[in-house]
Amino acid sequence: MRLCISCRKTFDRKNLFKITKDHEEGIFFDKGMGRSAYICRSKKCYSDSKIKKKLQKALKTSLEPKFIEIFEKEITSYNDYPNKGI
Ligand SMILES: [Zn+2]
Repeated sequence: MRLCISCRKTFDRKNLFKITKDHEEGIFFDKGMGRSAYICRSKKCYSDSKIKKKLQKALKTSLEPKFIEIFEKEITSYNDYPNKGI
């Protein structure tokens, strides 16, 4: 069980997006090794306007524009299939 950084509830890993800060290679969406933060797959959380700030705080780093681009693409495409959510 992991904690969602937005709603602070715990979820099974499969119901969460994992964002990992790899100290050598930068920040990854759903892959990589290192400090990780989790966001549950409820729209309220992953589309929260403050989610990027919360991520930066949880990962203790600033988000690279390249990562933000990937993040937004992932959550937008996830949004296209609302029935996959919880
Ligand atoms: Zn949440």
